[in-house]
Formats: sequence, C-alpha cells, structure tokens
Amino acid sequence: MSALAELQALLGEGGLLQSPAHDLSAYENDWRGRYQGRALAVARPANTEQVAAVLRCCAKHGLSLVPQGGNTGLVGGGVPDGSGQQILLSLQRMQAVRGVDAHNLTLTVEAGCTLQAVQDAAEAHGLLFPLSLASQGTCTIGGNLATNAGGTQVLRYGNARELCLGLEVVTAQGEIWQGLSGLRKDNTGYDLRDLFIGSEGTLGIITAATLKLFARPRAQMTALAACPDLDSALGLLSLARGQAAAALTGFELMNAFSLSLVRRHFPQLQQALPPCPWTVLLELSDSEGEAHAQAQFEAILSEALTQGLITDAAVAQSLAQSQTMWHLRESIPLAQSKEGLNVKHDIALPLSRIPAFVRETDAALTQAFAGIRMVNFGHLGDGNLHYNVQAPEGVPPAEFLSRHEAAINQIVYEAVQRYEGSISAEHGIGQLKREELAARKSPVALGLMRAIKTALDPQGILNPGRML
Ligand SMILES: Cc1cc2nc3c(=O)[nH]c(=O)nc-3n(C[C@H](O)[C@H](O)[C@H](O)COP(=O)(O)OP(=O)(O)OC[C@H]3O[C@@H](n4cnc5c(N)ncnc54)[C@H](O)[C@@H]3O)c2cc1C
Repeated sequence: MSALAELQALLGEGGLLQSPAHDLSAYENDWRGRYQGRALAVARPANTEQVAAVLRCCAKHGLSLVPQGGNTGLVGGGVPDGSGQQILLSLQRMQAVRGVDAHNLTLTVEAGCTLQAVQDAAEAHGLLFPLSLASQGTCTIGGNLATNAGGTQVLRYGNARELCLGLEVVTAQGEIWQGLSGLRKDNTGYDLRDLFIGSEGTLGIITAATLKLFARPRAQMTALAACPDLDSALGLLSLARGQAAAALTGFELMNAFSLSLVRRHFPQLQQALPPCPWTVLLELSDSEGEAHAQAQFEAILSEALTQGLITDAAVAQSLAQSQTMWHLRESIPLAQSKEGLNVKHDIALPLSRIPAFVRETDAALTQAFAGIRMVNFGHLGDGNLHYNVQAPEGVPPAEFLSRHEAAINQIVYEAVQRYEGSISAEHGIGQLKREELAARKSPVALGLMRAIKTALDPQGILNPGRML
C-alpha cells in the first residue's frame, strides 16, 4: 500500500487532506506571508495513538513531517518546504482538556488546545494559567511549548518552559513517552521534558502537557507612563520592582514610531498619552484588592515623576480602559504588517545594557540606511526587544527587504553578540534564523545539539531543515 493510502486508512474520514480536493493554503503559508510551501498531504490525527501510527508510517516510508499547531509562528518553523513531499502534521483536532487537579494546581490538556482555551479551562476552576500572547486565540499549547513561548507575563511567571510540569510525546519512531507528571520535584535522570520544550518539532511531537496553575490575583491594574529615554524606562522598572515586588506582572515598552503605526492603522484605538519618545505599559496583579493596587501605582508613579523618570502617566480607571491599553501594545505587530514587511529581530539582552545597545545600533543602522524607521517594542521587563527595521516612507517594503535584509541583520546580530545577548528571545529559530544560529552558536553547543538530534531522530524525518 502507498504511504498516502496507509495514512488515509489510519486516520479515516477527515483525517487526511490532499490537494486539489482540499484547499491546503491555510496550512502551507505562514502568518507573516513570508514562507509559502507545498505539502504532500495534511494529516489530522484525533488522538495520541493516531499520531504514533502516523509517525511509524512516515518512518517506514522515509517521509518527513512538519508538525503544526496554530501556525502563528514567526520564523517559518511550522510550514512545509516547497518540495511537495512533506507531510504536514496538524495537531488541531486534539483539543481535549484531560483533567484539572485543583489541589495540585495542575491542568492536563492536549497539544491542539488554543492558549485561550487553556486559560479559560483554568479560569473555570477559579485558577490562572498565566502564559499570555497576542496570538492566544489561535496559537496552541503544543506550539507554545515547542517554541518555549514568552509573552507578557514572563516577568512574574516565567516562559512556557517554567509553566510546564509534564509532557506526553510521540518519538520519531512512533513510540509514546508518557511523561505527564504533575510533580514539582523529580530528579530521576536526564530531564526529557526540558529537551522537548523549545525543540520546535525537531525531536518529537508533543501531544499533551501538564501545566502549572496559580491563584488568580484579586485585582489587576494597568497604567501607561511616558519616559524621556531608555535609561529612565529602566529606572522606572527598578523602582516598580522595588516597590511592587512580585505584584509587577507586566512591563512593556513601545517607542514613538511603533505607536504612530497603531495610530495610522487603527485610528479608532484611543491613546491615553500624547506622543513621547518611549511609552511603558505597567501591570500590577494584586492579591489584596483594587484599592491596594491603586495606592501602589500612585506611590510608584509619583516617585517616578519626582525622580524625572517619567514625564506623564495614566492609570486605567476601568477594565475597559485597561483593555484598551493592552490593545495598543498588542496591535503593534498587526499595525506593522499593515505598513508592509519589515526586517524583524526578536532579541534578548542583559537589561542594564539595553540603552547603550539601542543608541549604538540605531545610529549604525540610520547611518547605513538613510530614512529607515525603527519599530522598537517588547517585553522590557524580560530584556526582550522586538527590534524591527521598517523601509523608508515611500520605498516598497519587499524591495527594501530583498536588497538590505542581510546587511541589516549583520549589523544587528553583531551588536547583539558584542552585548552578550541572544538572537532569538522567544520566537525560536525555524528557517528564518537557521544560518545565524550556525554562524553564532559555539561549535561545542552546535555539536551537542546535532548529537541529540541524531540520537532521537536518526532518519532526520522530524521537521528537517529547521533550527539545525
Ligand atoms: C500577533 C502575534 C503575536 C505574537 N506574540 C508572541 C509573544 O508575545 N511571545 C511569543 O513567544 N510568541 C509570540 N508570537 C509567536 C507565536 O504565536 C508563538 O511562537 C506560538 O508559541 C506558536 O504557537 P502555534 O501553535 O501557532 O505554533 P506553530 O506556528 O504551528 O508552530 C511553531 C513551531 O512549533 C512546532 N510545533 C507546533 N506544534 C507542535 C507540537 N505539538 N509538537 C511539536 N512541535 C510542534 C512547529 O513545527 C513549529 O516549528 C506571536 C505571533 C503573532 C502572530
């Protein structure tokens, strides 16, 4: 029997989609429209046993697979190549919530649950799953773990890795590793869970996860603050951390140009502060209640005004105002894509070195490419910047990208290396940064990574050409 006939028999009605009978474009093109591939077929298993059977079939026929969750990844890791020979393995049918253990503060869900559905399942039990991304209505928990996603609450709760206690994984040979432990302590050998988290589908298929839950804060309050420069924004972060400690759950940075893009493309969104060089969004999650959070904000912001760290501030007075403030921040990626393709950098730096990095790299870039526009925003509390370069006004973005992307990357990534940062803070490597990883990671680290890949996937059928 041919591989496709075998897969069809394994997966049944609706389990295998093929062109031209089905339109596969939603699976074959990435969110940014940068990668367009062609799949041999889309396999849509409904449970872990079916995933294992698909892997065994692909291993037998030497077919490679590209796992995909919500297809919101930004580095081309979850779409097939152009060969038309890869199986796209979609986890989207696996959406069961397998159980909540309220005493253990854990939730076990299947990989295809959207992040929003995971948050809702926690909330239904009066608990909190804090991972939070602008793409949460579409991205899946499997994709979040495969990319070790970050988002807006890392400052307080950590990234996806820190929120996961156990995994169920199907190996390249089609075996099922049952590691759905809800244990907070388990020192029994190599940590397999941590090996699969962040491996971007190159070592195994995540089919389910046991996640950490938290008590819900009694109040959540948001404020915007205007900072004259990046040193002041960092000063504000230290002040807010000192006064609010673990209650500080968000500290997001937006430069003037990124907010001007939101103003241009989403004029209906109200901006509480007039334009200023840097705007910071702060969030406090308070276990004592609204009045306490309000008092804390007043203390932090008035001290910041006195110290000259901020020039203006607005505290949300209602849930609607708070949502509008978050909406501003979360609309930046969409406003950017409406403006046209840009050169993206998702970088991490030691916090203390961010102002000097930005000053130096902005100057180098504007000197090399007159008229470019810097879209600089991100999770400043985690040292994570989305440091993007938009074409000069009036220059066709695609043309600018094809002519200058490599040179821009060179300037930015060399500066990142000099400042002891990372070329990928939260989006992963995928296809987009594969060559950069090879050029910038130490030979010892690359050798260890290749040894792990060969040991777990000797045929090289899991997401080939991604990451390594
Ligand atoms: C508007 C917007 C905002 C975003 N904001 C953030 C942000 O703040 N922080 C952040 O970290 N990311 C952010 N992202 C990026 C993206 O949402 C995350 O990378 C997310 O974790 C990807 O999940 P997904 O289900 O869409 O994965 P996909 O895009 O489908 O896949 C991503 C990678 O994981 C692999 N994969 C997917 N599922 C599995 C599985 N079950 N087993 C093994 N491998 C798998 C794929 O092969 C691919 O390599 C944003 C994206 C958008 C569009």
